[in-house]
Amino acid sequence: MGEFSAPILRVNKLNKQFGAGCSHCSGKHRQLDKNYCPVCATVYSCQDISFDLYPGEVLGIVGESGSGKSTLMRCLYFDQEVTEGEAYLTPYKDGSSNLFQESSQQKRFIRNHLMGKVYQNPVMGLRMDFSSIGNIAEKMIAAGSRNVAAMELRGSELLERVHIPVYRMKEAPKNFSGGMQQRVQIAKAMSNNPPILLLDEVTTGLDLSVQANVLDLIKHLQRELNISILLVSHDLGVIRMLADRTMVMLDGQVVEQGLTDQILEDPQHAYTQQLVHSML
Ligand code: ADP
Ligand code: MG
Repeated sequence: MGEFSAPILRVNKLNKQFGAGCSHCSGKHRQLDKNYCPVCATVYSCQDISFDLYPGEVLGIVGESGSGKSTLMRCLYFDQEVTEGEAYLTPYKDGSSNLFQESSQQKRFIRNHLMGKVYQNPVMGLRMDFSSIGNIAEKMIAAGSRNVAAMELRGSELLERVHIPVYRMKEAPKNFSGGMQQRVQIAKAMSNNPPILLLDEVTTGLDLSVQANVLDLIKHLQRELNISILLVSHDLGVIRMLADRTMVMLDGQVVEQGLTDQILEDPQHAYTQQLVHSML
């Protein structure tokens, strides 16, 4: 936990909208219906999202479906382009360059070397017909690895670490259970030793016992490797289990952020109060 060190990732006023906006919704005091302009149908999925992520910390992002969590993660991983905003990564050009202004080639470098992402839907993160170890090799090749033997060794170490048995490494993820598919995604995301992991609803839809196992795995890996994690979930229980600090999103905006314990004990925003009370 690095509250006293400099952030590893700084995000400043990230905005993502779908649609061009109109005179009704473009002003400072726009009247939206949740995140949606009733006049021109523009969706304001992320509105002025700002936060810091510290080395070795887990920052939880919680909010109901449609609050903009996945859009935020997609923007940070360059799956989608932001409408506006800045992000600075300390391991990249000493944190001096806004990542969103970088060339697509540089973005690819950042994504392959400095970040790993696990998607809610494993189809988004894996090639279901490739071997599991081949999926991992793909990310290593994208980051410049060429030595097949070294990649096999690293891939099998990673799969062992996420508890995929050695004899199943050549099997395709389509043969695996949902929990195992998420484990392969986690192994792939970690393959280049990135300092940051983006986890988007990684356990949503899994059986509770499987969910607990995957969360436990994440917790152990995080402690062992001291990775910084952005952990997105609609489930406050998941956030409570893993996140040091938490950010609460509603309709594309951050309505509250602070230490997870404090948010659970003394939620300030009406929406957070409702979330906390519904968990008890
Ligand atoms: P969450 O992950 O919190 O459930 P999302 O980030 O998926 O929320 O969605 C946030 C909002 O953005 C929703 O209102 C959603 O309908 C909208 N949205 C997401 N992607 C698009 C898109 N490609 N076009 C239009 N609206 C979108
Ligand atoms: Mg989502």
